[in-house]
Amino acid sequence: METACSISEVIIVRYGEVSLKGMNRPWFEELLLKRVRAALKKIPGVQNGTQAVREDGLIVVRGYPDEKGKELAEAFSKIFGVASISIGKELASRELGDICAGAVEWMKRVCEQKGAPGETRAPVTFKVFGKRADKTWPVTSPEMAASVGAAVLKALCGKVAVDVHSPEVSLYVHLRRRNVFIYDDRLKGFGGLPIGTNGKGITLLSGGIDSPVATWMMAKRGMSVEAVHFHSYPFTSKRAEEKVEDLTAILAGYCGRIRLHSMNLLPAQEQIAEKCPEAMMTILIRRFMMRIAEQIALREKAGFLITGESLGQVASQTAASISVTDKVVGLPVMRPLIGMDKVDIIKIAQEIDTYETSILPYEDCCTVFLPRRPNTSPVLENIERAESALGDLSIIEKEVLSSEVVTIVNPA
Ligand code: ATP
Ligand code: MG
Repeated sequence: METACSISEVIIVRYGEVSLKGMNRPWFEELLLKRVRAALKKIPGVQNGTQAVREDGLIVVRGYPDEKGKELAEAFSKIFGVASISIGKELASRELGDICAGAVEWMKRVCEQKGAPGETRAPVTFKVFGKRADKTWPVTSPEMAASVGAAVLKALCGKVAVDVHSPEVSLYVHLRRRNVFIYDDRLKGFGGLPIGTNGKGITLLSGGIDSPVATWMMAKRGMSVEAVHFHSYPFTSKRAEEKVEDLTAILAGYCGRIRLHSMNLLPAQEQIAEKCPEAMMTILIRRFMMRIAEQIALREKAGFLITGESLGQVASQTAASISVTDKVVGLPVMRPLIGMDKVDIIKIAQEIDTYETSILPYEDCCTVFLPRRPNTSPVLENIERAESALGDLSIIEKEVLSSEVVTIVNPA
């Protein structure tokens, strides 16, 4: 049975923290809308007629081919700032009779999909959740839920049953100022804030597990990112560099295209290996990485550095090592993983799909010059004295920077 009123498919995009941002709220919402529109354009087969608009605290997408709904919802779920997404039906009429008819139609389709009832299938259990954003509407939310529930039970007698404790289908009927949404499912987004709302950072991206997660976490809080990767070619392979590009492409799926600056750290590593105590190798290399990353940050107008360090995880990440590493840069260093255990970092890596690529066994530049017994309690004066054996550091830095290759990495 078709309803008399118009009924069409919509995607409802909810945002979490963005809605708490007070005066900045319209700016945050506009940015989020821009990201949703950009995601729309990337899905083949979604024609120009598709519209995404801000509407009373939600972003609503209309006019796309129904079979593209799931793909679009998946794409929106990767946009930072999005809390959840539902694919639903929209009713233009707010008459109770039309709402009931719309809900019946929805549940009829659900029953068909579940094959209910049959020899192996008990009636589909459901519960109606009424929500009334427009408080001027004469019927209360519980009254609306009761009417809709009764209409569904009557129309689909034997096929459905009410279960208020653990229903298979939670049927949401959301009455708004101009329309009604009906839906029964929510796809979770990652939350966070839209990219571009919180400065720009240069992320030091290795091929490991941690730095992609750190990058993702900062981007999730709205920071735009560019990546710097150091290799030690020919001691490290081209395949190892491709692995970093692959990781960057996965991150670009969340952040939009990323500029990846790759360069050869070997000139610095060779000088350190030749002129400095072996136990200080790791920390001296880390200081070089930070200095060079900062130069790139200043050139690219980024105000932050990002690393995947976690306190105590390895020799270069003891409290003393981090303190000595920090001393070479003036920019704030973001270390979102600092207080996290490895198992929790791995969980995120798996959730965001970087893990499988990170564990591919290609060598990192740091492992090429690994000291047998790294110094885990470096003292700044000693490190600086050892570094002075290298002479004018800017000459080595220039040599490393001269090997820079910038790749624009698109989403995977
Ligand atoms: P990851 O899993 O991110 O490689 P890690 O546990 O191997 O980290 P370290 O080798 O001490 O730890 O590196 C600490 C941080 O230094 C990394 O998280 C990353 O931000 C940066 N870093 C390490 N190696 C490189 C590299 N080759 N290029 C760019 N940054 C690097
Ligand atoms: Mg590493």
